[in-house]
Amino acid sequence: MPRPLIILAVLLLLAPGRSAAAPALRLSDTTINQGEALRVTVRGTVPATAVVWFAGRTWPLYGAGSSHLTYVGADARTTPGTYALSVAAGERVLVRRTVTVRRVAFRQRRLRLDPDKEALFTPEMVAEEQRKVAAALRALESQQLWEGLFLLPVDAPLSSPYGLQSVYNGTVRGFHRGTDFAAAEGTPVRAANHGIVRLAEFLPLSGNAVFVDHGLGVLTGYFHMSELVVQPRQRVRKGDVLGRVGSTGVATGAHLHWGLRINGLYVDPMPWASEGAP
Ligand SMILES: [Zn+2]
Repeated sequence: MPRPLIILAVLLLLAPGRSAAAPALRLSDTTINQGEALRVTVRGTVPATAVVWFAGRTWPLYGAGSSHLTYVGADARTTPGTYALSVAAGERVLVRRTVTVRRVAFRQRRLRLDPDKEALFTPEMVAEEQRKVAAALRALESQQLWEGLFLLPVDAPLSSPYGLQSVYNGTVRGFHRGTDFAAAEGTPVRAANHGIVRLAEFLPLSGNAVFVDHGLGVLTGYFHMSELVVQPRQRVRKGDVLGRVGSTGVATGAHLHWGLRINGLYVDPMPWASEGAP
């Protein structure tokens, strides 16, 4: 073989990513606020083990063949800045982009708990709650079940927004992982969108709680209810009653806490109601 052809062949062998076309990556946004999510679409063949890396976490990819999809996001604690977003299989990065997370000026709220309720707020209770939630959410729907805008689960004024830092009896206990509505005891609580009930039971902190699985790692949570009227594995439609407003678990009075988690991370549910999923 003449020398130039040998050099060309060597160059072709060394060229990264030439053995298969790199998958195409589409993001719904490249700049998000703390508390916001973005949709990640991957077109092209990727290994079955492919996942997304973003902001220090690994995010599952849903789909099959040449089309995969997932949601990733930043919560109120994610450090603002520019992060790599990669689709990777093992240690191999298949395609990579950058996403900027912008700071949001979240406020603080100071709460007092009565001694009975404070006594329940122990590391053991946190661990028990996490164990129950993890067990209930082990297997999730890989198809999108929701349609259109998410409904607000109660018709009541918002009493405390996502992202507030909660200071209980003088100690910061973290940020508010959802939106509170000042609804009266007994008000029906409705499913924000179509999905499958994955959890409907009492949790030490969240009280009588329901999680609805909307597919693609997107779940809504409804906490502190007085009464539950659904069962795990039950399919629900947008607007179906899940339970009634109460003050069970660690709560300072009757209200509904509504949360939205994407692949385990709590983001602000309100944009999903006003604008829909990203
Ligand atoms: Zn709340």
